[in-house]
Amino acid sequence: MKALVYQGPGKKAIEERAMPAISAPTDAIVRITKTTICGTDLHILKDDVPTCAPGRILGHEGVGRVEKTGPGVTAFHPGDHVVVSCISACGKCEYCRRAMYSHCTTGGWILGNTVDGTQAEYVRIPHADTSLYRIPADADEEALTMLSDILPTAFECGVLNGKVQPGSTVAIVGAGPIGLAALLTAQFYSPAELIAIDLDDNRLDVAKGFGATAAVNAAGGTAAAQVMNLTDGRGVDTAIEAVGTPATFVLCEDIVAPGGTIANVGVHGVKADLHLERLWSQNITVTTRLVDTVSTPMLLKTVQSRKLDPKRLITHRFKLDRILDAYDTFARAASTRALKVIIEA
Ligand SMILES: [Zn+2]
Ligand SMILES: [Zn+2]
Repeated sequence: MKALVYQGPGKKAIEERAMPAISAPTDAIVRITKTTICGTDLHILKDDVPTCAPGRILGHEGVGRVEKTGPGVTAFHPGDHVVVSCISACGKCEYCRRAMYSHCTTGGWILGNTVDGTQAEYVRIPHADTSLYRIPADADEEALTMLSDILPTAFECGVLNGKVQPGSTVAIVGAGPIGLAALLTAQFYSPAELIAIDLDDNRLDVAKGFGATAAVNAAGGTAAAQVMNLTDGRGVDTAIEAVGTPATFVLCEDIVAPGGTIANVGVHGVKADLHLERLWSQNITVTTRLVDTVSTPMLLKTVQSRKLDPKRLITHRFKLDRILDAYDTFARAASTRALKVIIEA
């Protein structure tokens, strides 16, 4: 089968690989029909993710058909149409019993990291019963590809952890796919103000189309002042950090109102400053989280009932044999205006 393989920092290639085989009774083999590329895949290529070794098939998102199941898999059968979750969960360990699937002792984020991933014709899914989600018969599988990672990540790490409330004021720092997914799912709670912050005017325009009430271009270092102007000098109740750089995290510290929450979503490769000399008295909360995918079934229902349209995040489509072009398009988002790219296997 064809697969996109990480070959070390800055290097990737399409390789011919053997079909994955069932190696534990709880495994399933899924034939991937659609997959996508995540910012995290670019982090791996930049050598930011030391757990991912060269030779690994990348990808932790996708939809497909169950091809084969191990004898311990009871919830799924060959032919079933499924969403692959970016988080694998055994359902039995201490963390899984606390619904912290991201910290499953034999799972978590392993696909396309410590085991071969979804940017291939077939993938082995460990703990299949508790790591796959059934796709309803009339569903749009392209839309549901967004449920593997970005929608639950933005919703759980950003919106839920950020305690977005009716009437509250929310700023989303970073209007890439994750920030935009946070913008879409924050609207479940009817916040009064949804301020999108980015350096790219195109992405800010997209954010306005997705429901942002204001757009702030952070170029020139005036983003914090602009947010203070927009909020009568108060700041925001929720600051969602959806970039993962020291500057964007500090911007959240600069704009959070007393009693507010900074919800970090971004993947940070280096340390960021926490200005306790200013914030010690401000009653704020800082949250961090890796997506647990506990909200995936709920999000699936909101997509099915058309309360949420994640297809709006898809800008480009490629065949699997052109996945290198897909990476190039995704990596040059400022000029290609790419958000999520769909790859058809
Ligand atoms: Zn991802
Ligand atoms: Zn577990």
